[in-house]
Amino acid sequence: MIDKYPQIQNEFNEFSQSDVTHALQISGMAIWEYDIISRDVKFNENWFVILGYGLDELPPKTSTFYQLLHPEDYDILKDAEKAHLIHNPHGILEVQYRMRTKSGKWKWLRNRSKLIYDEDDHPIKWVGSILDISRLKDSEHQVIQKNQHINAVVNSLSDIIYEIDEDYTFINCWVPNNNPLHTRIKSYKGKNVSDVFSRTVYSYFKNLVDETINTGKPQELTYYSPKFDKYYLARTTMIPRNDSFKKHITMVVQDITSIQKTRNRLEKNEANLNAIIQNTSDVFWAIDITGNMIIFNQAFDELYYNLSHLHPEIGAPLYDGFLLDETAKRWRLIHAKSLNGIDTQFSKHVHFLDGRKRFYKFHINPLKNLEGEIIGSVVTGRDIDDIYTSKKQAEKAARLKSKFVSTISHEIRTPLNAILGTCHQLELNNKQENLNEDINILHLASENLLSLINDVLDFTKLESGKSTYKPSHFNLTHLLKNISQFLRNLATNKGLEFNIDITEDLPEFITTDKTKLHQILTNLLNNAIKYTDKGMVNFRVTSNKTSKDKALIGFEIIDTGVGIPKSDLKNIFDSFTQSSTSFDLQKGGTGLGLAITKNLVNLLNGEITVKSTVGKGSIFYLELEFDIYHQKMKTTEPHYLSEDLEGINILIAEDNEINAKIITRLLGQWNASYDLACNGQIAVDYAKKTSYNLILMDIQMPKKNGFEASSEIRNLNIGNNCSTPILALTAQPDFSFDPSYQEGIFNGYILKPFHPDNLKSILLTHTKHSA
Ligand code: ADP
Repeated sequence: MIDKYPQIQNEFNEFSQSDVTHALQISGMAIWEYDIISRDVKFNENWFVILGYGLDELPPKTSTFYQLLHPEDYDILKDAEKAHLIHNPHGILEVQYRMRTKSGKWKWLRNRSKLIYDEDDHPIKWVGSILDISRLKDSEHQVIQKNQHINAVVNSLSDIIYEIDEDYTFINCWVPNNNPLHTRIKSYKGKNVSDVFSRTVYSYFKNLVDETINTGKPQELTYYSPKFDKYYLARTTMIPRNDSFKKHITMVVQDITSIQKTRNRLEKNEANLNAIIQNTSDVFWAIDITGNMIIFNQAFDELYYNLSHLHPEIGAPLYDGFLLDETAKRWRLIHAKSLNGIDTQFSKHVHFLDGRKRFYKFHINPLKNLEGEIIGSVVTGRDIDDIYTSKKQAEKAARLKSKFVSTISHEIRTPLNAILGTCHQLELNNKQENLNEDINILHLASENLLSLINDVLDFTKLESGKSTYKPSHFNLTHLLKNISQFLRNLATNKGLEFNIDITEDLPEFITTDKTKLHQILTNLLNNAIKYTDKGMVNFRVTSNKTSKDKALIGFEIIDTGVGIPKSDLKNIFDSFTQSSTSFDLQKGGTGLGLAITKNLVNLLNGEITVKSTVGKGSIFYLELEFDIYHQKMKTTEPHYLSEDLEGINILIAEDNEINAKIITRLLGQWNASYDLACNGQIAVDYAKKTSYNLILMDIQMPKKNGFEASSEIRNLNIGNNCSTPILALTAQPDFSFDPSYQEGIFNGYILKPFHPDNLKSILLTHTKHSA
C-alpha cells in the first residue's frame, strides 16, 4: 500500500512543493505523520499555531500529544482507533477531540488520518490532518442548548410547538414528555400537515399559515377537536430569516379545554342571567362610581324613554335622561349613599312625559366586585301602581266596613237595650203565668242578638288591628271568682253542675290585659255551658312559676257536652266555623267566638288547644304566661249582687225615653235615689244644684252632648260634682278609643245594652266609698 503515498504526491505534482506548503499554511490545517517503526512524530507549523505555541515550545513527541489531549476524549480516541483497525484498516479515520492550548482553553479539533502500508501490507506510517473546528462546535452546542431550552419550556408549559414551512411541512415538533400523544406528534416531523390532520384541522392550519405568511403578523385561532373532545388555541408567528429559503412559522398549540369549558359555562350563565334581567318586568340598572351606565334592561329602557324621550346608553351618564334637575339631584344623592355602602329603598310616583304617573318601589344597593370593593350602584324598581291602588282601595273598603259595622251596631244596640231592659222588667213584674214562656223566648232571642253583635264587633276590631294589648295589674283570683259567679248562674239555670278548682299557689297579682283575659275565659265557659245539655262544666286553674317574676297559668275548661267531631277540630278556631254536632242542635251563634278567642290568646302570646269526643264532651286548654306583680295592691272584693245601692244619689243624663225608663226602674229596685235629665244642658243645671255620688252620662244628646256636659260639670266651681265619678253611657263598642274618652273626663263607661247585673256591679264599684 506504499504506492498510495506516492499517488498523493503525484496529485500534488501539478503544484510545486512550496505552493502546497503555502496553501496549507493559509488553510490553517495542521498535518502530522507518525512513523510506526521509529515512533517519531512530526507536526507541521500549523499544529503549533492552532495550539498557540511557538515552534520550539512543544517537543514533537507522542507524549506531548497525549498530555494536551482532553482526558475525557482519550478513551474516545483510543476506542475509535481500535475500531478502525478492526473494521476499516485501509479507510479514513475521523475523530473529534479537544486539546488544551497554551492559554489553557480547550479547542475542538477534527482529525482525519490514514495508515500507510508497505508492499507486504504492513502499516508503516500514520498520516493525518487536523482542523480547528471549535467555532463549528460552538454553534452546534448552541443549537443543542437552544433545543434543550425549548424542550424545557415546552415541558413546563404543556403546549405543543410546531415549526412549519410555507408548504405546510412540519420542520420541527416540540411536545411535552407527559403528553399522551408525545410519540405520535414527534413523528409529524418532516410530514405535511395534510398527512397527519383531518381535513377540517388542515384547513384551519393552512389558513393560519397563509395568513401569517401573507401579513407577516401573528395570528391565532381557537378550534375544537371532536375526536379528542378538546379545545385548542393555535398561535402562529413568522420566524425572521434573512436568506431566501422557504418561509417558516412557529405554531404554538395550547390545550384550552378546561378554560374553554369554563368560559362556555360562564357564557351560558351570563346568557341566562341576561335573559332573566332582560325579560323581567322589573326595572334594572347599574352605574359605575362616576355615574355612567354599566348595564340596564328593557324595562328600564322603556321607563327612561317615558321620562325623557331618550334611550339610555352603556357608558353614558345616567343623569342626562332626567329632565328635571331636581330628579337628577335626588338620584345623585341616592346613588352617593349606595356608593358609600348604604342600602336604600323607597316608593314614589314617577311622572311620565305623556302625563301618566305610576307608583314605583325602588331598591338601591352598592355594586361590589369579587374583592368586596364598591364599584358602582345597582337599582331594581317595580311598578307597584296596581298593587298600591288595590291596597288603598282595600284599606278604604276596610275603613268603610268598620265604620258601617260600628254605626249599624250602635243603631241596633240602643233599641236592644230597651228590649232587654223591658224583658228584665217583664220577668220581674209579670203576673200572667201564660206569658212567662213568651217573655223567656223574647229575652233569650234578645240576648242572642246582643252576643251576635258583640262578636261581630269584636271580630272587626281584631281584624282591623284596633285591638291592642293594654296591661294592668290586678288580682287574678278576684277576676276568676267574678267570671265564675256569673257563669255559675247560667249553668245552674240549665241544670248543669259547675265546679271551679283554683290552685292554691296562684300568684295574687298579675300584669296582663284584664279585659281580654276576661273575654277569653267568658267565651270558653259560655261555649261549654251552651254546648252541654246535661252533666257538668269544670273550670280548673293551675299555676307553674317559671321564674321569680313569671308564672305559666293553665286554664282548663272541661264539659260533658255534645263534643266536636275530629274532622271539625282542625278548623274550629277559624272564623265562621261551626261544628256539625252543635249546628244540628240549633244553638244559634256566629262561629266567631273561637276565632276571636284564638286572636285574643295570640295577642297575649298564649296557646290554646282542644280535645273532644262526640257525645262525651270537650276540653279546651289555654296556657298563658303572666308577669307576677309583687307589690301589694288595694283591692276590693267583688261586689255581690245582693248588695244594695241605698243612700246613693245618681244623676242620669239620657235622652232616650225607654232607656231612661229602664235605668230609673232598675235604680228604683236597688233603692238608689236619682235625678233624670233628658239632655246635657239640664244635666249641667242639676249638677249645679245637687251633689251626686255618681253621674251616668249618655254621649249622644241634644243641646249639649255628654262630653260637653261632663266637661262643664268637671269645671264647675259650685257644688261638689267636680270630682264625682262620671260614667259614659254609650253604644259605641270601641269607645275607649274615642278622643273624648281619652281626655280622661270620664271615670269609665257602660256599654249599651247592659245586663242589669253588670250595671249594678259597676255602680257598686264606683260608689262604694262615696256613700
Ligand atoms: P258559635 O258558638 O257562635 O257558633 P264559636 O266560634 O264560639 O261560635 O264556636 C264555633 C263552633 O265550635 C261552635 O259552633 C260549636 O260547633 C263548636 N264548639 C265550641 N265550643 C264547643 C264546646 N265546648 N263543645 C262543643 N262544641 C263546641
